[in-house]
Amino acid sequence: MITNIPRGTKDVLPSQINKWRYVENTFRSLCARYGFGEIRTPVFEHTELFARGVGDTTDIVEKQMYSFKDYGQRDITLKPEGTSPVVRSFVENKLFADVMPAKYYYITPCFRYEKPQSGRLREFHQCGIEVFGSKDMMADAEVIALAKDFLELLGIRDLELRINSIGCPNCRAKYREALQDFLRPSYDQFCDTCKGRFERNPMRILDCKSPVCQELAQGAPHMLDYLCEDCAAAFEDLKANLTAMELDFTVDPGIVRGLDYYTKTAFEFVSNTIGAQGTVCGGGRYDHLIEEVGGPSTPGVGFGLGIERLLLVMESNGIEIPADEPADVLVAVMGDRARAFGQKLVHDLRKAGKKAALDLMARNLKGQLKYADRIHAKYTIVIGDNELDAGKVALKTMAVSQQREIPIEDILKEIEN
Ligand code: ATP
Ligand code: MG
Repeated sequence: MITNIPRGTKDVLPSQINKWRYVENTFRSLCARYGFGEIRTPVFEHTELFARGVGDTTDIVEKQMYSFKDYGQRDITLKPEGTSPVVRSFVENKLFADVMPAKYYYITPCFRYEKPQSGRLREFHQCGIEVFGSKDMMADAEVIALAKDFLELLGIRDLELRINSIGCPNCRAKYREALQDFLRPSYDQFCDTCKGRFERNPMRILDCKSPVCQELAQGAPHMLDYLCEDCAAAFEDLKANLTAMELDFTVDPGIVRGLDYYTKTAFEFVSNTIGAQGTVCGGGRYDHLIEEVGGPSTPGVGFGLGIERLLLVMESNGIEIPADEPADVLVAVMGDRARAFGQKLVHDLRKAGKKAALDLMARNLKGQLKYADRIHAKYTIVIGDNELDAGKVALKTMAVSQQREIPIEDILKEIEN
């Protein structure tokens, strides 16, 4: 073998693909019910879309991006998240001229250079939604409701919804000072990354994964106590909307989110059963991102949900995912004329919408019947040259091991049920 799969990536094998399709199909049909349209953006973008300003202190921009120069010396980055590309497309295609709010969903691979572990990969997949154009907290509640419905449709019950407000640039300035005052005495003990964050964006220290930093940040002041009037009213509004929809939540002042562009609403769905990487879904409001990317001032709110972590939660919840339908019928053939006839028959059955299979390994009859078992075929049709002359085939119902002769023209009708 000349090489292995790159670290932090995974194959999805045909035996596992039913899980992925089940999750994706459930998401697509739910999004359609909520009136969201699918958007697909490229796997790579110009780096400056993600690294927008010098003030950006997220882990993603600082150390996780798969960036390279292409042969035209352009700075390119494999998308580490789904929102910025959707925003870029919204602005570039002037979708803001369409009816508001704009509602999009996506299912996409994402790439981050991380330390691989359970629930943390270098290539992973997200499904997510974005609502552009509404300042109303009803939009935030609708986004959260969709995430919750999705998780419930999949049968997941143990996920906790945690919400917070991280304010706006106005109220964050005052909070920033209070937070720095609190953290300053411990400055020397923080990890190097957090030392850098101290000046640029101290709030990010609260999101550090290092236990030492987490310990030092214990008892830090909460953004919630520093919200301006507008942000405080919005948070009350959000809670009222969620309560009206009977969506249970806990207020968690510790949620700050991994991306710098959030404002006001921040939320997560967290599982207690899959270990440290328990956050399955994260989202929030980003009222300045669209303008930052170059569009007209337009508020936005959305979430990103990691499919690999979702599958881990489903597994730990013991949720059975429906297996792919087995083959309807295997056509077993004996003799040259039967072979030719069988190949045409399989072709016709497939055209008629049946999952029909034919032995391609030149097995004898016994081998072909064994093969029918291996692929869990519901029926086997046995065709020999003699049967052909009589215009008949043998139809075997595998589950009950019963066999009977039927006229060739009845094949489709007989395997219909
Ligand atoms: P974490 O704090 O776990 O690093 P994050 O804040 O970086 O998460 P987001 O950027 O909000 O995560 O991404 C949304 C979701 O995507 C996460 O809740 C998680 O389910 C998933 N996700 C993020 N990074 C990874 C990864 N490296 N591997 C697998 N899933 C991931
Ligand atoms: Mg992260």
